Amino acid sequence: MQLGLSEEQEMIAATVRRFVEQEIYPHEAEVERTGEVPSELAEQIKKKTLDLGFYACNFPEDVGGAGLSHLEFALVERELGRGSMALTHFFGRPQNILMACEGEQKDRYLFPAVRGERMDALAMTEPGAGSDVRGMKCSARRDGGDWILNGTKHFISGADHADFVIVFVATGEDDTPKGPKKRITTFLVDRGTPGFTLREGYRSVSHRGYKNMVLEFDDCRLPDAQVLGEVDGGFAVMNEWLYATRITVATMCVGRARRAFDYALDYAAQREQFGQKIGKFQGVSFQLADMITEIDAADYLTLAAADRLDKGLPANREIASAKLYASEMLARVTDAAIQVHGGMGLMDDYPLERFWRDARVERIWDGTSEIQRHIISRELLRPLGA
Ligand SMILES: Cc1cc2nc3c(=O)[nH]c(=O)nc-3n(C[C@H](O)[C@H](O)[C@H](O)COP(=O)(O)OP(=O)(O)OC[C@H]3O[C@@H](n4cnc5c(N)ncnc54)[C@H](O)[C@@H]3O)c2cc1C
Repeated sequence: MQLGLSEEQEMIAATVRRFVEQEIYPHEAEVERTGEVPSELAEQIKKKTLDLGFYACNFPEDVGGAGLSHLEFALVERELGRGSMALTHFFGRPQNILMACEGEQKDRYLFPAVRGERMDALAMTEPGAGSDVRGMKCSARRDGGDWILNGTKHFISGADHADFVIVFVATGEDDTPKGPKKRITTFLVDRGTPGFTLREGYRSVSHRGYKNMVLEFDDCRLPDAQVLGEVDGGFAVMNEWLYATRITVATMCVGRARRAFDYALDYAAQREQFGQKIGKFQGVSFQLADMITEIDAADYLTLAAADRLDKGLPANREIASAKLYASEMLARVTDAAIQVHGGMGLMDDYPLERFWRDARVERIWDGTSEIQRHIISRELLRPLGA
């Protein structure tokens, strides 16, 4: 599905697809088996991405990025979605929230992140606060001119490789007609800062080797210079820069679904039972028809949402619809791909059981399916006063 893409945009997608096939696929089975990405391999992927000019391609050219549009970046993520996340993590796409860096923060965080010298992780979720971000307990209080952070964040992806983390913590509370509402501030915290420790998180069925970590802050002292954006302005920073990240999840789902589909299509065209190709049975071929239809629908929905962002149009509902539909589509497609393969689909000779497991988290992170449905329905009903 190409949706009237320009030659250059098609070339971007083809270049990333080739990179994933050549530099990521050959290492996937090993990462899956060990649950680790060897540091030499991580560095190699990073270097090749830098050489290709795609590192931090989500950043504007004036800070050293490739200046891709939202649509072009969605194409990049779609192709990366085909590969193991543990490995494509090193095809660096730093959090674009770093664009909120001011003054010397740019030299310490933004530019090194864009150059691939320092990696980041983003920490919002806590054991007691997931969908309900404002329910966070992690807090910072003033002490002289400094801040003292206390609390725990969990499920933080990529923090094992991060040189610094972008952390959201409560810095106060406002009384509102709907009850008390936390004020949130964003901090940049370097690995090795006294009072900040990292430990291994949980073992997840999805995306082995792409680890989630637990972050502990125990009287962690930070100067004002570590505040990203305004004090108490965490929600503003979040809304400005994290608004579009759900498109990333949606496009990656599309890429992974196409890869699973290709396996199913091939198998249906090769495997014989009852003296003929199984693809000749409507019970199989109609599954393929449904799969490709859903994949194309998710692809259109996702690229259309990205295109709205490029055009400066409101896209909150459209992004939520894309994330919701693409992640649920991926679950159905990976399940059907296994069905087409019969018993072999469950064996790790094929990557299908991995795609099926990996698909599960997509309906949970970056806002669960229920939260996406909440966003979509509120956008529809709020203007009607309901
Ligand atoms: C592998 C992994 C990696 C992650 N990486 C990161 C990361 O890097 N950084 C980060 O900050 N977070 C990360 N997350 C956290 C992720 O965003 C949260 O898991 C997600 O937002 C859901 O929060 P929760 O798991 O606490 O579930 P909960 O919020 O406790 O939800 C439990 C259930 O209740 C439902 N529910 C909750 N509220 C509502 C509501 N209002 N209406 C209807 N249903 C509702 C949910 O949909 C869900 O079904 C990661 C999670 C995982 C699993």
